[in-house]
Order: sequence, then structure tokens, then C-alpha cells
Amino acid sequence: MYHRQLLHVTSGCQCEELNRLVGGVPGSQHVKGEAVDIYVLDRYRLLEDLVGSRLNFDQAILYRAKGFVHLSLIKQGVNRRQVLFK
Ligand SMILES: [Zn+2]
Repeated sequence: MYHRQLLHVTSGCQCEELNRLVGGVPGSQHVKGEAVDIYVLDRYRLLEDLVGSRLNFDQAILYRAKGFVHLSLIKQGVNRRQVLFK
């Protein structure tokens, strides 16, 4: 599906201090190792495919100005399968 797309992971797990330095939300899913920020060529296609799939995810947030997608998966608990645009 995405084998022809470039995928660039910009942020995976980060410690509390790094999270604070990059302006992350306190208690961020990144700190828990539950989120990544990625760049793909066709962000809208990625979101459409996620919604149309049975894949479990908590949030897919497209940051339109910066052009990356935040993807998260809760390890223990209910995943909301939310798609948000910021
Ligand atoms: Zn993120």
C-alpha cells in the first residue's frame, strides 16, 4: 500500500525532558512510547486508508501547517480511532 511512498519517522519515544524541550504536551503519548510523528507523501490517503481499515489506533492527527501525522496506539486501554486535523 505504501511501498512507493517515502515514510520518515521524525519522533518516536522521547523522555520527559526531551518532550519538554521540544514543546510536547506533558503526559504525551510519546513519553509512554505509544506515539510516532511521521511524514508521508500522501497524508490524506494515509488517513483514508486508516479509517477504512480494521487497524487499531488511538489518534491520527494531521498537523496541516507542519505537514506531519501524529499516530498513536494505547498499549493498555481503549483506542479511540480518532482522526483529527490541526
Ligand atoms: Zn506526536
